[in-house]
Amino acid sequence: MRASCEGCLVLHRDATVAFCTEELDGRLCLGYDRRHLAGTMPCRVEPKVVRCEHCQRSLQLMLVFSIPYQPPRPLGNPALVN
Ligand SMILES: [Zn+2]
Ligand SMILES: [Zn+2]
Repeated sequence: MRASCEGCLVLHRDATVAFCTEELDGRLCLGYDRRHLAGTMPCRVEPKVVRCEHCQRSLQLMLVFSIPYQPPRPLGNPALVN
């Protein structure tokens, strides 16, 4: 059994996991808490893509409560992206 997932974790703005790219390809993610060989990337990657509901909501919460924006932190021990 592989110890880490070969996909890339996609994180919402509030640093919760949106999905794993392995799931996009029809494969199973080994677990969001596993190391992801492709690293992590923010949910809102392409500017043309409509921001997802989850990110939209957390963005509104930040504005309402003036919570300073914190960039998504990689979970666990992510692979270096090179
Ligand atoms: Zn999102
Ligand atoms: Zn995965």
